[in-house]
Amino acid sequence: MTATNPYRGLLPDLPAYACTNCGHWQRWPAPGPLTCPVCADVRNALPPHGFEFVTEKQAEELVTGSWRPAPIAGVTEFGTSPRFGLDSVGWVIETDIGLVAFECAPWYTADMLAELRRMAAEKGGLDVLAASHVHGYGALWQLQRELEPRVVCVGVRDLEWTKTFRVTWPADDVLELAPDLTLYRTGGHFPGHSVLHDRRRRVLFCGDSLKVDLADDGTPVGLSAHKAFHAQIPLSHGELRDYLAVIGTLEFDTVATPFEMVPGVTTDHVVHLVQRLLSGPPDAAPVALAEL
Ligand SMILES: [Zn+2]
Ligand SMILES: [Zn+2]
Repeated sequence: MTATNPYRGLLPDLPAYACTNCGHWQRWPAPGPLTCPVCADVRNALPPHGFEFVTEKQAEELVTGSWRPAPIAGVTEFGTSPRFGLDSVGWVIETDIGLVAFECAPWYTADMLAELRRMAAEKGGLDVLAASHVHGYGALWQLQRELEPRVVCVGVRDLEWTKTFRVTWPADDVLELAPDLTLYRTGGHFPGHSVLHDRRRRVLFCGDSLKVDLADDGTPVGLSAHKAFHAQIPLSHGELRDYLAVIGTLEFDTVATPFEMVPGVTTDHVVHLVQRLLSGPPDAAPVALAEL
């Protein structure tokens, strides 16, 4: 398969604007959008003082980029500071067929892009770009433009959130992105919400299927699951049963959300959390890890 996208250039390259409240990028005719669909959605908070957007140039001036090895070997974390948008991070995972990027940083500075190009040249190219759901997209569109991965993959049921980039491989319920690296649709938080299981490293890139509470020293102390974190809306029992059917079969002892990688959260913890949530009325409150 060729890395060249034959459709490139057919779509008008409108400018991109990021919402300062959540970081969601929209391509929009100048002078930019009036509202942000992610903030308007029940799963995010509205900006208390009104919508504001920044251009690519402003984003480049606002943030500094950084990258570091994740706690699990073969995974690199890309992030920006100060806080921008939801402050998500991007994971770059080494595989037998090159690099897979899962979730994205809110913006990729020139330095971050140079490092990604260097890594891609050394590790067999950036082959696949994917994300769990819209809260993890960050500046995914920018990596598609700059690194031209062969595959850009998002759950097909979430296609409505992807207008800023071009999905080349809409995913159904299960899709192997690389050897021992498989995307599974969980639904729940979003209809197309998907998790990425790294079987060799025993890591679940869990998107927002889980929220991990951390102690000051970074150790996990609590776990919760939500439809909407800000509004504290719990998942329905049917959604929890779907989670259990998918996540309960995957073996892991580390989870990586769009914000942090946390060693020490295991399949058993998540199964026990979901079973506990199924045993009573829907509940969005965290449960102490020691009780799971
Ligand atoms: Zn927003
Ligand atoms: Zn989310």
